[in-house]
Amino acid sequence: MASMTTVRRAEQAYAEQLAHLEACAACRQERHCEVGTRIRRAVSAARAAAAARPSDGEDS
Ligand SMILES: [Zn+2]
Repeated sequence: MASMTTVRRAEQAYAEQLAHLEACAACRQERHCEVGTRIRRAVSAARAAAAARPSDGEDS
């Protein structure tokens, strides 16, 4: 199972993305602002890490 840390991080990044979408009209219209772009990148990186990471340890 993926480490708790990476899964948590992915969830947090996604929550942050949703919160940003709530707040940012540009991102809701898919005209991604700089902050939104950074968050999206963080979300996909965190998801990739959570999905790719097998149980053998390199978490944190
Ligand atoms: Zn935005």
